[in-house]
Amino acid sequence: MKYSNDRSSFIAGTSSASERCAEALETIASRADLGAFLHVDADGARSSAAESDERFAAGLARPLEGMIVAVKDNISVVGQPLTCASRMLDGFRPLYNATVIERLADAGATFVGKTNMDEFAMGSSNETSAFGPVRHALDANRVPGGSSGGSAVAVAAGMCHVALGSDTGGSIRQPAAFCGVYGLKPTYGRVSRYGLVAFASSLDQIGLFSNSIEDMQEVFRVIDGHDPLDATSVRHAETVAADVAAPRIAALPVARLDGCAPEIVDAYVAFRERLTALGASVEDVDLPHSEQWIPTYFILATAEASSNLARFDGVRYGLRADAEDGDITTASRSAGFGTEVQRRIMLGTFSLSKGYGDAYYTKAQQTRRLIRQAYDRMFESYDAFALPTTPTTAFRLGEKSDPVSMWLSDYFTVSANIAGIPALSLPFGADAAGLPIGMQLQGPMFSDERLMSLAKGLATAS
Ligand code: GLN
Repeated sequence: MKYSNDRSSFIAGTSSASERCAEALETIASRADLGAFLHVDADGARSSAAESDERFAAGLARPLEGMIVAVKDNISVVGQPLTCASRMLDGFRPLYNATVIERLADAGATFVGKTNMDEFAMGSSNETSAFGPVRHALDANRVPGGSSGGSAVAVAAGMCHVALGSDTGGSIRQPAAFCGVYGLKPTYGRVSRYGLVAFASSLDQIGLFSNSIEDMQEVFRVIDGHDPLDATSVRHAETVAADVAAPRIAALPVARLDGCAPEIVDAYVAFRERLTALGASVEDVDLPHSEQWIPTYFILATAEASSNLARFDGVRYGLRADAEDGDITTASRSAGFGTEVQRRIMLGTFSLSKGYGDAYYTKAQQTRRLIRQAYDRMFESYDAFALPTTPTTAFRLGEKSDPVSMWLSDYFTVSANIAGIPALSLPFGADAAGLPIGMQLQGPMFSDERLMSLAKGLATAS
């Protein structure tokens, strides 16, 4: 069951926030087999929805009154556990709210619980969670994508109106595409990262999943904006025209899709045609340095992760293993981190180490600049960039057992994080098995509203 946040019935009194909340809680309970949630705060949600109903009755409704929000379990919500789907943080409870949570709460949102994810947001399938995988809502043998798979499934299966996720290299857009919902990775710095557990700080961005662009626009308006608690938060977002009469769209040439499933190629061709039918001009642009997207991302992301995750040392947070020889840190990190997280820490430590730092980390910083410049140059002549979100539809659990084939599934998404630009995945048809396909729009810095407006035009036209 899909539902968007149409609150007119709350205002008219024909239904209530409490009824909606009860429905969401029932769906969460009846689809517990999907593994979408790690923690459900039923009591908290009910009392927040009851407060929303009082406000509707008193004519005091706030902008998101009664909106039910699920939160990825790497974002701090006071009163709820924060595990990042890792044994390392099992039992940890945060002492403060993330800024996005404060803003949503002030706007009247109801938090229903914390969603399952790949451990520390590292993965593309949600199989690396220490608490079991998330399953695709349409086929339990398939993955929902990752790392924000629980949030994607929660929205797709009607367990909430919208869900928060984090996107370091595609973790919102890829699961949104697999699950048939909208996913937005905002411009770096527009949405505060305060209270988000860091994976790769220069790439991480909080964003959201929704069933409609209208919901996305409403929520984005609330979470967008400068936050003094986040040093990388943008003080004044530049104004970029949201509505462009005849948008000039640069598009990845179809020839660059070799390796993609044929149905993705067909959908991408149809996507370009739909854009043209809406009055856009669509031109092939072969962005320079695209062959460097994946290597640059994995060097930078693992390097930053190895540094960020050093704080989990068995002393300050979460798990503390017994160590007979007294080395608590090594014992705790071995016991607390899963295989993928350990792999990333080791790779990152290597590429930062003396003697290799210049060859790997510094080089990756240089290619990052080239990738960014290629985008800047392209956006001097174009309003947005069109490309698929993923090379395939949802794959089977266990299907990608070697890490490199898993990493390649992020081919189309990582460059937006490298460049810091906004990117949106929108549902666009399905394959022969009925599995959703997602198409992607990227735009210049601060063009988040433009991407939503383009996606809205495409949705209305379908
Ligand atoms: N799948 C990518 C990775 O494993 C991206 C993860 C993310 O965006 N958090 O690193």
